[in-house]
Parts: sequence; structure tokens; C-alpha cells
Amino acid sequence: MGGKTPCVVLLALVLAVVAASSLGFASPAYTSQNFEVYDNAGAGVEYAKSVADALESARSRVLQEGASLAPPCSGSRYTVYVEALGGEGGQVRWQYTSDSSGRILSSCVVSISIAPGLSASTLARVALHEMMHVAQASYFRYSSVVASYPWYIEASAEGITGALMGSCGWEPWYFQTSLYSANPYSFSDGAEECYALGAFYHWVVASGYSSVPGALSGSLSGSAVSSDWVNSAYTSFLLSLAKGVSMCGRSFQPSYQKVSLSTSG
Ligand SMILES: [Zn+2]
Repeated sequence: MGGKTPCVVLLALVLAVVAASSLGFASPAYTSQNFEVYDNAGAGVEYAKSVADALESARSRVLQEGASLAPPCSGSRYTVYVEALGGEGGQVRWQYTSDSSGRILSSCVVSISIAPGLSASTLARVALHEMMHVAQASYFRYSSVVASYPWYIEASAEGITGALMGSCGWEPWYFQTSLYSANPYSFSDGAEECYALGAFYHWVVASGYSSVPGALSGSLSGSAVSSDWVNSAYTSFLLSLAKGVSMCGRSFQPSYQKVSLSTSG
């Protein structure tokens, strides 16, 4: 029995060495107070630092708005990868545990990915959008909602980012494509329409309809994909839209259809 323990320890040690060598003994290119940035794209230390700085600012901003953040899954810092994302600016991988009824017991952030080569202004926007996803994970309560990735996950990340920055990302696309005449629930995942629906969340926060934590918990903490909070807020948005809304220094109005009524027969 006495001889068994060292053997187990040795095996664990071997496995640790194998795991470490398969990761190439990767060490972060830059470490800030809350982020460890690994450069998987040859972007350089300078860029890794600007990524960490942008994420620190975004994190402070989200906390300043009173929202909570899901913690890193391991360690005290978020793991960040600078890596090519095939056209996307950033990505967040989250993880959660749920009980047999699908109630989420805990959630955490596995990693945040940021594309290389982003300009300073794009990087600031992407960092805030991704930190919104980090915040979202702390408001998830039912796995069925998260698993179906409803339209309001990307819409809230995009639109709240726009409202906090006072500038638009995808929001104008909502008006250009007359999305107000579509059912938002017909879109999900990373469809372009979900980002354009950010116009709704931009209005929610910019108009004072709701705070950032109010919008996140209202949207994400429910047990059903069709959220009562979202439906009620979206109706208010449409009513307000009929009078015209302004966002990011522009004013938007829906287009109207002329309908003629005449008595017949
Ligand atoms: Zn997103």
C-alpha cells in the first residue's frame, strides 16, 4: 500500500508533462490584472497588450453599469487567445452545469478569442461586445434558453455595446432591412439579423427603458425562449419607433405602407 502512492503521483506527473508539452509550454504573451493573453496568431506583444487593455476597460465599464460577470473557469484571470476567427472579431466560450431539470447551477468562461489586426476603435467595440457575453453567462438560469441561442443573445451584446459607446455597429441594418416588420424569434444563433436586432437593445439602454443588468437579467434569466420581458420591451420599442427614434447621432423612422380602404359590394 505504501508503494502505491508514489506510483500514482508519478503517473500524474507524466500526464501533466504530456499535457504541458502538447500545449507547447505556452506562456501568455501579455498578462494584465484580469486577463492572460496568448498569441496564437503571431500578432506580437504590442497587440496582446492592446487586447488586454481593451478588455480591462470593457470589464470596468460593464461592472460600472452594475452588471455581473461570469468568472473564469480556471484561475483568477480570463484566458484570452489572439487567433484568426474567419472574419469574426471575437468569440466567448462559456460552460455551465445544470441539474436534471435543466436549471443552471453555475456558469463560467472557458476562453475569450480576439482576432488579430483589429484597429484600436474596432478592438474597443469588439472587447465590449465580448465582455457583454461574459456578463450574459452570469444571468443564464435555464439550459434550454442558452442551448437554443435565441436572437436576443447577439442582439443584446451588440446593441448594449452600441448604446454604451454612443455609436452604432449593426443597428442601422435593422432599419435598412425593415426588420421591424419581421418576427425576431425567426432568427437565432449568429444570423446577421440577430446583430441588426441590436437596434432594439440600443434603444432599451439609451432611452433609459432599462439598465444594463435589467436588460440582461430580463432577457436571459427566464425559463422560456419566448421571454415575457423581451416581448413587452420589444412592443414598447415598436410603439416608440412609430414616432421615430434617434441613436448614434442619427434618427430612424420606419417606412409606411399606404393602405386604401373602400367599401365594396
Ligand atoms: Zn457576439
